[in-house]
Amino acid sequence: MRRICWPKPKFPILSARVTFNSLAVMRVSVIDDACHGHQMCAIAAPEVFGSDEMGNATVLISGDIPAELQAKTRRAESNCPERAIVITD
Ligand code: SF4
Repeated sequence: MRRICWPKPKFPILSARVTFNSLAVMRVSVIDDACHGHQMCAIAAPEVFGSDEMGNATVLISGDIPAELQAKTRRAESNCPERAIVITD
């Protein structure tokens, strides 16, 4: 019987996942009409969320959220009582 030999992967699968996750694109926005200005988002992720003159949340980062801030951003989204934070990735 003939055996088929697949080439051995250069890197373990786990390493490939870590690399993929660190390059994941994340964007965040706030639904103005839903925001009530609790500022829980700014407490959870002060590098990502600020406030306008009315106290409602603003997003401080335009474009992609850096990988090191993505966990904080997800925590802010899950803690928003008004579900005003929208993450797209
Ligand atoms: S926690 Fe939610 S409702 Fe409160 S300020 Fe932040 S985005 Fe707005």
